[in-house]
Amino acid sequence: MKLKFSYLMLAGTIMLSANSFAADGSTSPKPKQKPTAPKKFIDPANMDATIKPGDDFFDYANGNWIKRNAIPAKATRWGSFNILGQENTDKLLGLLKEVSQTSATQPKGSLKQRVGDLYASGMDSVTIEKRGYDPIKPDVQRIDAIADLDAVIAELVYQRVNGEGSPLFRFGVGQDEKNVNKYVVGLDQGGTSLPDRDYYLKNDERTKGIQSAYKKYIVALFTLTGSSNDEATKNAGIIVNIETALAKAQLSRVAMRDPNVTYNKFSVDAFSKTTPHLNWAKLLPQMKANGQDTVLVGQPAFFKAADSLLAVTPVTDWKVYLKWNILKGSATALSSPFVNASFDFTKALSGQKVQTPRTERMSGLVDGTLGELLGQLFVEKYFTPAAKQYMVDLVNNLKVTLGDRIKRLDWMSPETKERALKKLAAFTVKIGYPDKWEQYDGVTINRDDYAGNLKTLSVWRYNFTVGKLGKPVDKARWGMTPPTVNAYYNPTNNEIVFPAGILQFPFFDFKADDAVNYGGIGAVIGHEMTHGFDDQGRQYDADGTLRDWWTKTDADKFKVRANQVVDQYNAFTVLDTLHVNGKLTLGENLADLGGLNIAYEAFKKTKQGQENKKIDGFTGDQRFFLSWAQVWRGSQRPEAAAQRILTDPHSPEQYRTNAPITNIDAWYKAFNIQPGDKLYKKPADRIKVW
Ligand SMILES: [Zn+2]
Repeated sequence: MKLKFSYLMLAGTIMLSANSFAADGSTSPKPKQKPTAPKKFIDPANMDATIKPGDDFFDYANGNWIKRNAIPAKATRWGSFNILGQENTDKLLGLLKEVSQTSATQPKGSLKQRVGDLYASGMDSVTIEKRGYDPIKPDVQRIDAIADLDAVIAELVYQRVNGEGSPLFRFGVGQDEKNVNKYVVGLDQGGTSLPDRDYYLKNDERTKGIQSAYKKYIVALFTLTGSSNDEATKNAGIIVNIETALAKAQLSRVAMRDPNVTYNKFSVDAFSKTTPHLNWAKLLPQMKANGQDTVLVGQPAFFKAADSLLAVTPVTDWKVYLKWNILKGSATALSSPFVNASFDFTKALSGQKVQTPRTERMSGLVDGTLGELLGQLFVEKYFTPAAKQYMVDLVNNLKVTLGDRIKRLDWMSPETKERALKKLAAFTVKIGYPDKWEQYDGVTINRDDYAGNLKTLSVWRYNFTVGKLGKPVDKARWGMTPPTVNAYYNPTNNEIVFPAGILQFPFFDFKADDAVNYGGIGAVIGHEMTHGFDDQGRQYDADGTLRDWWTKTDADKFKVRANQVVDQYNAFTVLDTLHVNGKLTLGENLADLGGLNIAYEAFKKTKQGQENKKIDGFTGDQRFFLSWAQVWRGSQRPEAAAQRILTDPHSPEQYRTNAPITNIDAWYKAFNIQPGDKLYKKPADRIKVW
């Protein structure tokens, strides 16, 4: 089931470790020594004084930093998030190297044995190279033996249950959005490999380049597993045809922003009638989803189309598609020719120049699969209770401020305001790391079997997912691991979540003045709170239920304001003809604008906010907005920019900096922005939402 979390920023791959919490296992964080060297939290050396703040605030605040910090060859973008991410990766690597030295002698099944041996197995390139593609040979043979459509459908089930992928569609278990205390089966569109349906459907030069790189990738993997070049080329055509047909039946990302569009409840029997070749009453128990009489279907028309495709496409073509699913899912876990072929495709798609070092790929892998074991070691060494307390206080200040702002809104009726305030009061706040850690019971890790370990972990995750059915909803679980540099709002739990990884400079520092912390982590907290009231979040009520709590007039007035935000961002051109998609990014843009407003108002209640004295040449107000810009400083490769325009609900960093401030009067005053400056907007045109 697709999770409707709203993140602060899109990470490369977000792996959600499924969590079943056993008691115990938490560790007590130790206070950390603070650095003593004086530090300029807003450093003029990073700015570009030749740019007027009113012409391009992003460049004014960050210009020299960007000039001095080229994107490393292993990255596709480079900025505050990435640098902090790199620091956390280095910390994880320090822990992993240490633990893996002794993990072989630790008790089997202990935290250190599993974490250390998983890392060691991924670093054991000698064994990995020797095995070539042995780990997937049984899968290839099994698919070779398929003779009819029934066997194709059985393979769709087999791959899921055995943690080998999600061919044709997505299957998951999540909270019923209209009955949030119950887990249900969710079925969603899927079955494609490229990052968005548009990659199959558009035919401009950039898209055609990626389509041809994709075919090359398919040919490479089939050739590596023994196909002739002719056969591999034919297979590429078959796969692209099937995936294009699926892409055509998929809803766009913008259409899926409306949670009511993707909420379609069916009885299992009624849904089976819409897909004559897929009998869900039979399939669900085979997929270990027992005792289910209803399903939630994200895109019913997609399943109808996928079902027709099953019938009209030859079984021999499905065998090619199913084999591809195995190949693409395992390529990075096999020997280097497979890893390199996979990276060649990544290069074409994202512009990344060189492969991420194996050590860093493996720390990412351990974080993504045993993240709540590794996370315990991370917070024990690197997270302080004092940071948590600072956050608790800041969140409370911002909550009060958002409440005041809601009460003052001139466009909302008292009736809707009361419900909005109720929702705000009901926010759950999670900071740092989970109260109860996931133990990954039953996961055995062997130091000499990397592919086997990955399979074990996938199967565990699948079983964990289906194991939720029939159990009470576990609201303690986290959707991010502690070292993650990100944050999220989860509408069905009405919760805002801030992992330990983001609670560091430039978001936050104990020694920094309030302006820097409020313009950094304060605006991030405000951002996540505003998600509860953005175009999606506002459709969920205080207990997380998808239920309309707005009067019709208030909803209409909200939409008028939201559309102004859509128009503002639609006007930004990122790369030649590609402009920001104002509808796709609406939720994030609303959250940025709301978050900055809330944080600024809360900042003005602090001593520094009231005095507005200069530090390092800047007033408190100036430092607040410069801190916001500093959080977003960075640059990205054009290939990555093009991909993000299609797939990322967040606007590019330059606009995340420049756009919201143009709607905030205090920014004009702080930097003396005047008519004629490029970013200037007349007071009447400045958008006010939250
Ligand atoms: Zn967000």
